[in-house]
Amino acid sequence: MKSLLIINAGSSSLKFAVFNLPLVKDAPSVFRGQIDGIGANTQFVAKDIDGKTLLDTIIKSPEGTPLEAQQELALTTLLDWIEAQKVELAAVGHRVLHGGEQYSAPVVVTPEVFKVLETFIPLGPLHQPHNLRPIRVLAAKYPSLPQVACFDTAFHRTQPLEAQTYAIPRKITAEGVKRYGFHGSSYDYIARQLPEVIGAEKAKGAVIIAHMGNGASMAALRDGKCVATSMGFTAIEGLMMGTRTGSIDPGVLLYMMETHGYGPKEISNFLYKESGLLGVSGISQDMRTLEASDAPEAKEALELFCYRAAREIGSLMMAAGGLDALVFTGGIGENSQFVRNKVIGYLEWFGAKIDPELNKVCGKAHTIHSADSKLAVAVIPTNEEWMIAHHAVTLLGL
Ligand code: ADP
Repeated sequence: MKSLLIINAGSSSLKFAVFNLPLVKDAPSVFRGQIDGIGANTQFVAKDIDGKTLLDTIIKSPEGTPLEAQQELALTTLLDWIEAQKVELAAVGHRVLHGGEQYSAPVVVTPEVFKVLETFIPLGPLHQPHNLRPIRVLAAKYPSLPQVACFDTAFHRTQPLEAQTYAIPRKITAEGVKRYGFHGSSYDYIARQLPEVIGAEKAKGAVIIAHMGNGASMAALRDGKCVATSMGFTAIEGLMMGTRTGSIDPGVLLYMMETHGYGPKEISNFLYKESGLLGVSGISQDMRTLEASDAPEAKEALELFCYRAAREIGSLMMAAGGLDALVFTGGIGENSQFVRNKVIGYLEWFGAKIDPELNKVCGKAHTIHSADSKLAVAVIPTNEEWMIAHHAVTLLGL
């Protein structure tokens, strides 16, 4: 049987999923797992279709092995394991951060396309090189194996100019310093589920999708197309996240530079790693831990997370010209009754009403608003890997 391998490679981790062909709608992956701690203590975990652990092992490399070589070793170890499962790969789909201004849809990666994707490295230096490395390694090892890149930015290319532009000097904008937006594969997947879950008419209206995981963003849709999104040039802007600040007065960064002597590295850690739920609570970045905690700081972090989400909805409602439906997805959006309830509470003045019983149901696509709610509210579990697999199948005619 032929299969598809889906890869989401970061600097220290590589997530993967294997789908059998032909690809059925919402088919579960036959294998999935991840390699974590690359560069430190590399652990490889693989699970079968039922979530049973098939492998949990450490990948060893000699002391002093450069990160790039360790990333390549992680990938080749995965490929060897896949081969040992008698999986025959028909194609590989990759999650790639940046498609720049050029790519508004997934693309088959040819050597020419790969060169273009490399030019986007300055736009996403923390992710793009790590997303591209497996493509290069696979192309060298299996030159005839087709590879498809799906971009986090692609879904947002329909945003109007004003939604993409910062109020900065034109020449910096011309360098590509624009609002791109991310989490595109998740929005792409949710947008396709909308008619079934909230009805065709509402799905064509003003819809806000809240993707809330460790990273969190929102997108406003009209007629199924993105008209605005909360993330911008990087994945920092917008909502408060697990460890990221979300939007912040840049004056705070000047203050940290002048008063605490912060340089680029410290500023980067401050924005990406030390803030958000973790920074405010001082306890954890994990929503489950905070919900279970009695500490006032945990409660404060939760309240701020929801408040910031509600403020962002207010802004996106203006961009979408109203609000017909609000959809929650991502680990927090799909599972946290507290967050959904609190965020909808801010929309009560608008006529949004949640059904507490329906809000208790997690893990399936369904609506959670009450019959007299002006607004449709839904939970839709996202499936980024399946979305990437679907694009690979469509593009390659598999
Ligand atoms: P990533 O962005 O890394 O893919 P996920 O989408 O898996 O992350 O989301 C992780 C977040 O979801 C964590 O904050 C986690 O605590 C939260 N989460 C997962 N399950 C629950 C739950 N049952 N209740 C509340 N939060 C949850």
